[in-house]
Amino acid sequence: MPRPPKLEKISSAEALESARETRGLLVAPGALQNAAEFFRKYFPNQSAAIVADTKTFDIAGRTVLQVLQKSGIPCVQPHIFTDPKFYAAYNFVEELESKLKSHNAIPVAVGSGSINDVTKLASHRVNRTYMAVGTAASMDGYTASGASITYNDSKQTFGCPAPLAVLADTEILRRAPREMTASGYADLSAKLTAGADWIIADALGIEPIDAKAWQMAQAGLRNALGNPQKISDADAAAIGRLTEALMLGGFSMQWSNTSRPASGAEHQFSHLWDMQHHTYNGKAPSHGFKVGIATLTITALYEYLLTLPIEKLDVDSCCANWPTLADFEKQIRTRYASENFVDKVVEEFSAKYPTREVLRARLQKLSSVWLQLREDIRGQLIPYAELKSMLQTVGAPFESEQIGIARTRLRDSFVQAWYIRRRFTVLDIIYQTQLADQCLDHLFGGSGPLRA
Ligand SMILES: [Zn+2]
Repeated sequence: MPRPPKLEKISSAEALESARETRGLLVAPGALQNAAEFFRKYFPNQSAAIVADTKTFDIAGRTVLQVLQKSGIPCVQPHIFTDPKFYAAYNFVEELESKLKSHNAIPVAVGSGSINDVTKLASHRVNRTYMAVGTAASMDGYTASGASITYNDSKQTFGCPAPLAVLADTEILRRAPREMTASGYADLSAKLTAGADWIIADALGIEPIDAKAWQMAQAGLRNALGNPQKISDADAAAIGRLTEALMLGGFSMQWSNTSRPASGAEHQFSHLWDMQHHTYNGKAPSHGFKVGIATLTITALYEYLLTLPIEKLDVDSCCANWPTLADFEKQIRTRYASENFVDKVVEEFSAKYPTREVLRARLQKLSSVWLQLREDIRGQLIPYAELKSMLQTVGAPFESEQIGIARTRLRDSFVQAWYIRRRFTVLDIIYQTQLADQCLDHLFGGSGPLRA
């Protein structure tokens, strides 16, 4: 019988041992004051180059610089991005890369998502490791490999190692804008649905659960999400737990060499909206906000799916009605006719397309394990209504309109998100069992949780 591994508490230190790239992690109140000691431990006899934007330099960069200088660590002139429109774009990577070429100091990225991603890629380009100093618990990318950078107008993930050492001062993190912490909380909540997707992929023999990665991503999750009011109050201990859980998620991805532990159908919605260049009130909603709405959406989907008698699924009829890959390709090319990423979508979808024989075996397996699987998934998720109120409490969006996604678009996003990535998720389940229309009619219908 499929079962996710039993959760045992795992400390950051244990998780760190399994991380393939990051060697040092310090999350503590007042940690900035230990920046010099920490830097020396992981970069002995090296000089440092602070990288920040004007805001993050004020928040923490200047202090880090002073602490390093005071202890005698040579520091080159900090690189401060002054463009008010600074974001994780390729031109800023090039700007930093050329600066880094002028010295051999170790980059110390002081900031959150964008500063970290830009420094991660630029450091890799000059064959240097780097240190990250987080200024907000806004996402799980500090300890993740790969940098999410906008290149040629589209957001892409560039392969590059995670930082060698990461320091986060919870006194700084708790003073970050409330919506940044709420973003991190929402991004963390995605591990609920991502975990559920992994449980299914494991039960069907598509992608087995790696016990260690599972522990790292899931063990501290409920504890970190458990008291949204304290997160909202910027309670130091609660922010510390949130930060550690986000860092562990990154280590989990480092260990397993895939984003599977932290990313399922909910991240596919967010990727889709990125590919569509979605903006609201003139700017792209934060990663965590998109992911939070999608996590709620997928939770609602799961909740309904678990009420359906899939143990009695009519496998013959599902297989008889399963379109050919050519039919799908036609649909995809029609749907994305005007988009420059259509070839990529076809490639991703083709990689996971099951033939009728594969589908038959898969659906037979699904119906035979369904009663147990249903319980395992129930144990993994937080009920929709509860999760919605948790997100609301921390100050994250809890209705799709709050990030500028109308209900009709949210409904369309199901099939579009299914197409764009090869990862097997609950979206594959609803389309392959041909229950998608029934599910969506329920979710968006008169009494459904996603009704307008
Ligand atoms: Zn994420």
